[in-house]
Amino acid sequence: MKSLRQLFHRLPPDADGYMRDALRTFNLAPGKNGKAVSVKALAENLGLDVYQVDLPRGMAGRLVSDPFAESGYAIEVNRRHGVRSRRFTVLHEIGHYLLHANKTDPLADPAFLDRGSDAFYFDLTEEKEANAVADVLLFGDGALEAAASLFGSDVNKLADFFGVTERMIQVAMKKFNVN
Ligand SMILES: [Zn+2]
Repeated sequence: MKSLRQLFHRLPPDADGYMRDALRTFNLAPGKNGKAVSVKALAENLGLDVYQVDLPRGMAGRLVSDPFAESGYAIEVNRRHGVRSRRFTVLHEIGHYLLHANKTDPLADPAFLDRGSDAFYFDLTEEKEANAVADVLLFGDGALEAAASLFGSDVNKLADFFGVTERMIQVAMKKFNVN
């Protein structure tokens, strides 16, 4: 999955237009205001509440059912992790929500997915897909290319711009063939 178009194809057929709009707006935003945009705002636009909580050290975050959230789900992120990791985690969990959550019956799905190494439920395919969603939202549809034309291949500046770690930028440059 390398483009929003491909992501939209994976959404349920009845996915509301507002969902696509929210995802597209996030993808376009960095180029507009010149700084990393809020992943929390994106989550909330999708009806997901976000909480920063204490989680086991190895667990970055998880998607949990939450009857009080508009979508029926909330994202919990490990509050002890760095802000750039937490940002990526929120996008990763949004990926699980978009692709893997059972939206018809959220209450059937307690503590749905997480990415801890000691997770009781760990499906590598779904983990990769959730990462791919995060990558597309941040870097897809020319977003990384545009930023690279602004900053060159300065990994540090690109990491600042997208609000993620330098390692994530290096991986994304390979994945999206930008250098
Ligand atoms: Zn995951």
